[in-house]
Amino acid sequence: MFYTMEQKNIIEMMFPDAEEYNLILGSIGDFVEKKILPHAAKIDEEEIFPRQNLENVEKQGIMAIPFPQDYNGLGLPYPLYVAALEMLAKGCSNTALQVSVQGMVCEGIRLFGNEKQKNEFLKQKGLVEGKSLAAFALTEPCCGSDAKSIQSKAKRTGENYILNGTKTLITSPGEADHILVFAGSDRGICAFFVPRDTPGFTITKLIPKLGFRGTKLSEVHLDNCEIPVDNLIGEEGKGLEYGKQILNSGRMTIAAMAIGIAQAAYEKSLSYSRERKAFGDSISQFQLVQEKLAAMATEINAARLLTYYAAHLKDKGKNIALEASQAKLYSTEMALRVCDNAIQVHGGYGYTDEYDIHRHWRDARLLTIGEGTSEIIRLLIAHLVLKQ
Ligand SMILES: Cc1cc2nc3c(=O)[nH]c(=O)nc-3n(C[C@H](O)[C@H](O)[C@H](O)COP(=O)(O)OP(=O)(O)OC[C@H]3O[C@@H](n4cnc5c(N)ncnc54)[C@H](O)[C@@H]3O)c2cc1C
Repeated sequence: MFYTMEQKNIIEMMFPDAEEYNLILGSIGDFVEKKILPHAAKIDEEEIFPRQNLENVEKQGIMAIPFPQDYNGLGLPYPLYVAALEMLAKGCSNTALQVSVQGMVCEGIRLFGNEKQKNEFLKQKGLVEGKSLAAFALTEPCCGSDAKSIQSKAKRTGENYILNGTKTLITSPGEADHILVFAGSDRGICAFFVPRDTPGFTITKLIPKLGFRGTKLSEVHLDNCEIPVDNLIGEEGKGLEYGKQILNSGRMTIAAMAIGIAQAAYEKSLSYSRERKAFGDSISQFQLVQEKLAAMATEINAARLLTYYAAHLKDKGKNIALEASQAKLYSTEMALRVCDNAIQVHGGYGYTDEYDIHRHWRDARLLTIGEGTSEIIRLLIAHLVLKQ
């Protein structure tokens, strides 16, 4: 089953009276296995933006899972969303990354936008369902971790803001219809909703990369981009605070993706170890291989528990800065260990293109960097526990 027993057990533990949640997730698992997974290797090899997969994901309603029904969401609990994202990443990481970024932008508007913005951006523009696509543009050439030092500027002129600056290492802004852009005004950093077709908004560079090859990592130039004051999200000067809270959700979904990627590598290792023979026996009979399989199975489930727990707390309206950071730190480092060992279990073939296993390692490699490096997340966790 694509929807694993371990996932099912956690969902049943959290929602003992909601058998329908298992049915929903079981059918999402079937959908990912049949419609998404078959395209994943080609998307990576040929560096294709997964638009077709995303259209299917939209029809299946996956993006809408945790958002309020008032904005065309499904209003389902957050643990179902992370479970669906885990399966999506197991099927096709490139598709999952776009869904994760989209979820972050939607969550930012849901938390900090006014009613008009929620209706217009989330509902009418179809962001919650995935009818249109979003990107998140915080990082600049000067600064990623040190986000408060970004240089892009926003100047108010009457009923508009004029944005100028450069954003880099942004996931698929050229494919998105709308971009959540962070820039500094006289009052501090602000968050703006910028339509991609705004004059002066240009993709200046596509940046080749190790993994997630179906997404389009880009540099963006903002040259006197004029956007209405109505597109300022929340209050002027509070953008960085909003960004931090948006990233709490993002970190949880990155953790879910890490689990899905690790699960894919683990399942491939399990079946390869049963088939591959050495010294007259299947390699799964060798204890040093078994040790790897045991560690993979255990660590994946530990990461899953941390991540679904953070999602459960989010549903309860709790501040999840600590739990989301812990889930992100542990799950992403776990995914790297699992994918590295998966190559080892596959021996020489694991290093070649004949087996689709190094793709998972290349994808996992991003996750300890994006949306807060492991170093920054460790500092954040230490800060939060020392404050308690
Ligand atoms: C494939 C990909 C997709 C991305 N997508 C997006 C996106 O959609 N939107 C977006 O805004 N950004 C995106 N990013 C950017 C990403 O969020 C940043 O790369 C990340 O935050 C790190 O910033 P940096 O690259 O500037 O590294 P730096 O901040 O320069 O850090 C370099 C190294 O120094 C360490 N370091 C920095 N400060 C400290 C400190 N105080 N203590 C200890 N160590 C420290 C870091 O941990 C890291 O190891 C993406 C990046 C990649 C690679």
